[in-house]
Amino acid sequence: MNKIIVLGGGFAGVETAIRLQKLGHHVTLVSNRDYLFIYPISIWIPVKKKSFNDVKIDLEKLKKIHGFDLIIDEVKTIDSKTQTVHLKNRVLEYDYLFIALGMHKKQLKGSQYAHSICGHPEESVVIRKELDKLIAKKTGKIAIGFGVNEDDPSATAVRGGPAFELLFNFSYYLRKKGLQDKIELHFFAPMKEPGRRMGQKPYDKMDLFFKRYKIIKHIGTGIREIEDKSVVFMDGTRIESDLTVFIPAGDGHDVIKQSGLPVNKAGFIKINELCRVKGLENVYAVGDIAELGGPKWAAKQGHIAEVMADVATFNFHNKIKGKPKRKSYWEQLHIVCLMDSGDGGAFIVRNRKRDFIIPLPVVGHWMKKGWGFYYKNSKLKKIPRLPGM
Ligand SMILES: Cc1cc2nc3c(=O)[nH]c(=O)nc-3n(C[C@H](O)[C@H](O)[C@H](O)COP(=O)(O)OP(=O)(O)OC[C@H]3O[C@@H](n4cnc5c(N)ncnc54)[C@H](O)[C@@H]3O)c2cc1C
Repeated sequence: MNKIIVLGGGFAGVETAIRLQKLGHHVTLVSNRDYLFIYPISIWIPVKKKSFNDVKIDLEKLKKIHGFDLIIDEVKTIDSKTQTVHLKNRVLEYDYLFIALGMHKKQLKGSQYAHSICGHPEESVVIRKELDKLIAKKTGKIAIGFGVNEDDPSATAVRGGPAFELLFNFSYYLRKKGLQDKIELHFFAPMKEPGRRMGQKPYDKMDLFFKRYKIIKHIGTGIREIEDKSVVFMDGTRIESDLTVFIPAGDGHDVIKQSGLPVNKAGFIKINELCRVKGLENVYAVGDIAELGGPKWAAKQGHIAEVMADVATFNFHNKIKGKPKRKSYWEQLHIVCLMDSGDGGAFIVRNRKRDFIIPLPVVGHWMKKGWGFYYKNSKLKKIPRLPGM
């Protein structure tokens, strides 16, 4: 039996482990958390539409259902020469390795004064408590924004979607409480056209959303630092803020930076179109941890992590079985986003041929909720998986 290890219990790692088990391989999954966090629906924790527990899936349950082994431990380093993974508490040997540890974040000066919905899952609860305090005071200013990573000019790891979703959801939540005109909502981002990656048509529609949800925009100027109760820009201007939510751009994972694997300047693992790590026959990287090839507008997303898991496991399996067919993740790169606004949403698609946005008042929100239900329950095998989802 080959010793197969999957590192990371997020979207990419869990999907990889499930697919490998289905293909008849026995897998050990390693994760530092004992749960999978469904980030796309965590935007509803601050506005109390979901509890923290609603947004996680216990890995122990997934282990029992899908049959993989599970180790809860911290990965410290990977040594591809000796084919070992060094955990905090033990060393594992592998014949084949699948790396799916996600990404780290490019921190700004003063990040400790902001909260991120894209970092440690528990931060979503802290944001909820901070929002509660402002609601109790019935006044205040909230600033929500995202940043860039200068070492990653491809910007595939810039995460704007959750910032937009939080802004719209906060606005709707405050409106329901009669506080929309008492608590200001500000959006900030350093680029001139934040959200442009989604495509021209979706980008053009964003201003309508900002007007509808009464959001004040501050864009096109670099962010110098975050201070206690303000965001300071490179030109010296600032936004006063009682609650700052900042989503830093992604950065390479520290474990990878220290492991001598081939990485780009930002520290993302270099892979080929088969999701195999460059120069290594028996190591694959999937999800946010890998450098994305393909079109310039490609973006790291949960469904792309699952596409990569499919591609990596298919190619691995066929190689082991001596079958010639291979899959490429490049061909499958596209952006699909159901951007939620609390009272509705918008369905956004960008692929090689076109881009479009379909506003979905009311129904868009329920579609996203439906996706969350489907994701959790299909992973737990309570409902069947739909082809391609
Ligand atoms: C708020 C938010 C909203 C989003 N909305 C959408 C959306 O609507 N649609 C969409 O497609 N995508 C969305 N995304 C993006 C999507 O969630 C990510 O692309 C996806 O989670 C990437 O999966 P991953 O497995 O590569 O990384 P992660 O999900 O980050 O998983 C990494 C795993 O590795 C583990 N790990 C990390 N370091 C170690 C270590 N040293 N040792 C052991 N384990 C470790 C972590 O605990 C985690 O379980 C959103 C992201 C956020 C943050």
